[in-house]
Amino acid sequence: MKIILLGAPGAGKGTVAKLLSDDDGSVQVSTGDILRAEVKARSPLGKEAKSYMDRGDLVPDALIMKMMEERLQKPDCRKGFILDGFPRTITQAEELQKLLKKLKIRLDLVVNLDVPRDVILDRLSTRRTCANPGCQEIYNIKSKPPTAEGKCAKCGSPVVQREDETEEAILFRLDTYNQKTVPLIGYYDKEGRLRNFSSISSQQTVEEIKKALKSGQR
Ligand code: AMP
Repeated sequence: MKIILLGAPGAGKGTVAKLLSDDDGSVQVSTGDILRAEVKARSPLGKEAKSYMDRGDLVPDALIMKMMEERLQKPDCRKGFILDGFPRTITQAEELQKLLKKLKIRLDLVVNLDVPRDVILDRLSTRRTCANPGCQEIYNIKSKPPTAEGKCAKCGSPVVQREDETEEAILFRLDTYNQKTVPLIGYYDKEGRLRNFSSISSQQTVEEIKKALKSGQR
């Protein structure tokens, strides 16, 4: 499958992407995960991106596009990809369209995960993430806690609260999402490729996305 996942921070894009990827082997491409790994590695991109990320702001489009142009041409994307957290601005969506045309790739679906704001706020403040850049498994202190020692059940690394998940940064990220990313819903709707999914259960959303993909293939 070749899909874009849209949705506010905390809407469940990462969880849905992982479940879809386990299902058919399409690779999850999360710009947030890639950027966090770059920050951890103290690469030039990571150094440039860090201050934007820490305050919950978007990393400049040019940096994101350079990173994604390389990422989408890696061999693991050939079978399929699930774009999680990208595009996030109209400029990125327009640049992505040009890039996909150049690479002769056709998107199957644009999924919008529509989750109420109170659910999002609760999820973001209780979310924890595996600190291992190669894992980044998502936990929730209420619904999916890490091990009793606070470690990741998958890789054993510490599970931490992200620096951009303080209350101040969360509110800023939601504002940024409303201003810069929400217009993408109209952009993809106009192209007739958008489907809204309002379930708050990730598993149910995944089943509905699979159904939508199947009916699109007929
Ligand atoms: P996420 O894990 O998707 O919530 O992303 C974490 C942070 O990484 C965001 O708050 C942004 O600072 C940055 N980021 C991730 N994806 C993008 C993108 N497509 N465009 C700009 N900044 C991004």
